[in-house]
Amino acid sequence: MVNADPLLRSALSAPPAAEHGLDALTLGRRIRELRTTRRMTLDSLAAAIDRAPSQVSMIENGNREPRLSMLRTIAIALGTTVDDLLKPEAPSERAALEIAVERAQRGAVFTALGLAKIRVSRATSDETLQTILTLHHEIERLHRERAATPEEARRANAQLRATMRARDNYFPELEEQALELLTAVGHSGGPVSHQVVADMATHLGYSLHYVGDLPHSTRSVTDKRNGRIYLPTAQSASRDSRTPILQAFASLLCGHDEPGNYAEFLRQRVETNYLTAAILLPEKDTVRLLTEAKNLRRISMEDLRDAFSVSYETAAHRFTNLATARLGIPVHFMKVHESGTIIKAYENDSVRFPSDALGAVEGTTVCRSWTARTVFDVPDRFSPWYQYTDTPSGTFWCTSRIEKAKEGEYSVSVGVPFDHVKWFRGRETTNRAVSRCPDESCCRRAPNDLATRWAGQSWPAARTPTSLLAALPTGTFPGVDQTEVYQFLESHSPTH
Ligand SMILES: [Zn+2]
Repeated sequence: MVNADPLLRSALSAPPAAEHGLDALTLGRRIRELRTTRRMTLDSLAAAIDRAPSQVSMIENGNREPRLSMLRTIAIALGTTVDDLLKPEAPSERAALEIAVERAQRGAVFTALGLAKIRVSRATSDETLQTILTLHHEIERLHRERAATPEEARRANAQLRATMRARDNYFPELEEQALELLTAVGHSGGPVSHQVVADMATHLGYSLHYVGDLPHSTRSVTDKRNGRIYLPTAQSASRDSRTPILQAFASLLCGHDEPGNYAEFLRQRVETNYLTAAILLPEKDTVRLLTEAKNLRRISMEDLRDAFSVSYETAAHRFTNLATARLGIPVHFMKVHESGTIIKAYENDSVRFPSDALGAVEGTTVCRSWTARTVFDVPDRFSPWYQYTDTPSGTFWCTSRIEKAKEGEYSVSVGVPFDHVKWFRGRETTNRAVSRCPDESCCRRAPNDLATRWAGQSWPAARTPTSLLAALPTGTFPGVDQTEVYQFLESHSPTH
């Protein structure tokens, strides 16, 4: 069965190059197949549609996309319909193979090698084509693996943040999908219960299975063949047990395919997390609650968290989706490790995050005076922490809270420019700080008196962070052991 090859599979389902959804290669192949079964020559078809034979040849080779009017003429000449010509699947298995090889040879990786294309003729056997295709697949895989450098990841991350910023971190199509799912199971507001989550699974045609041997590089594994979602029996107490299930639903709903590169992997992750949050905190209910709070001038992340029974991080992050698009409030969000390292960041309020030469924010260190850092020094971990911070790009008000995780403590912060603090609970705080970062003298360099006393008189042995030297996880799903996943599915599958 030729369809077993993953590259071929992706080639067959690859999005067509043309903007109007036309796949020139498949279309050309279908026209040629129909022409030959009708025993027409290139010349006779050309004559029938009043075009030069060379033009027909270009179309059949997928080098030109005919306009719709010409497509109609071709359809009539071949005794078929335009719809039939435009069918997305290859006309035969052999054609699928040939198209996949052609597509691979037109791909960026092959083109970059500067090699002459292999001409596929009728005499080329299926085995030869399959071998060529497998080689292409392997080269692309190696290429992907080599490209998965921290630099690529950081670039991809920076680009993704720019996209999110341009859309105010609001994705109406994902809100729509969340609404559809919630409506389908008759959810009428309030926190999404486990029963609602179970109903969603049924609605999507999946059953939930809790197992003790889930591959540890995964949070869940979806068996699309048997309609099963596997989840761990042991859940970390600090995690919301609904989240991994909803994330699995989200991937299904978004129609995610195996990611082709790191950027796509990151984009899929953003979509999954967005949709998950949009289900847990439905747009309509959340906007209603936030609008009421805004009118009363007491917007609070804690209230949002409590109203929907989600984690503080989920509530704070969800706030960034709706703050600008639905409430007209620019906002920034940060998740910062106790070491000061930024794990996640988003802004559309012109707060200036530290960044490296590639424009990446994650992994850089945040100013010691920012709320995201000062909150670690506050002994009271129960009350929300508020602070005004004067920065070179203006005064911002932020609220922050610490959450514990396996790797240590994290602060999760939401902030707005001074002009918008009037809508928030906590605006009356007297906590105030000044940050001059990125000026080194702000907090990156030791104060002069200390420096003169200790410079040259100390030798700290650096603890090498494990993440610094570790290679970026590789593989189609970065960090996931595919063998482990397949073996797992095999052992749990109801149909051996
Ligand atoms: Zn600083």
